Amino acid sequence: MAIRSKLVAGNWKMHGGTIQNRELLNAIIAGTEELGEGGVAVFVPYPYLSQSQSILQKTHVSWGAQNVSQHDKGAYTGEVSAAMLMDFGCRYVIIGHSERRALYGEDSRTVALKFKAAQAAGLIPVLCIGETLDQREAVITEQVVAEQLDTVIELVGINALADSVLAYEPVWAIGTGKTATPEQAQDVHGFIRDRIAASNPEVAAELKVLYGGSVKASNAAELFAMPDIDGGLIGGASLIADEFIAICNAAR
Ligand code: PGA
Repeated sequence: MAIRSKLVAGNWKMHGGTIQNRELLNAIIAGTEELGEGGVAVFVPYPYLSQSQSILQKTHVSWGAQNVSQHDKGAYTGEVSAAMLMDFGCRYVIIGHSERRALYGEDSRTVALKFKAAQAAGLIPVLCIGETLDQREAVITEQVVAEQLDTVIELVGINALADSVLAYEPVWAIGTGKTATPEQAQDVHGFIRDRIAASNPEVAAELKVLYGGSVKASNAAELFAMPDIDGGLIGGASLIADEFIAICNAAR
């Protein structure tokens, strides 16, 4: 059975500025050194990709964007292609974050096309899936997560998941201060891994499944200790250097 290394990734959302970014990134580099290559990443707003590249290149910290176009080029005003992200040294891109799904109308099909476009350019997609509070209360969490996952698998095939990362992010836990308990999260992570294992056990064994939703320094270690949780996608707490560094170190 493959041993999965952990990944802690900061999703800055629409926050930042050149001065505070420099401070935050330098603090992250210094404070997470022991995690080594592949253990830490930041997802910055598009305009700061160049700055992130110049500060983070030749360090152990990777960077990526929070969204990408499903098209590779053309008359798509305001869009950014996967090749452009590669041009700025991105290793990852977040695909299908619940804020994109809810606020910008990204459906599972669009998300699947973006996943495909990202991989075609050589990026590692970090595919976000998760249920709303209503869906959890209606006891359809597994159906919702399965549909979000299956739409991607139908388009790209199960083997393509080997070159991706998943993030289970219950929508009710994002930015609310309400974290899923380690057991609640593990239940869904286990469901996701089992579902993938039914098609391809090797892919399932090696795939990183991150948890996201109000992860903090105070709850990271217990979440990351669960067998199917391979790190975290961190929103609010990724903007506070000490907090984010502590979360990263909880993954060691
Ligand atoms: P949060 O966000 O940590 O602020 O809840 C997580 C996310 O949206 O990725």
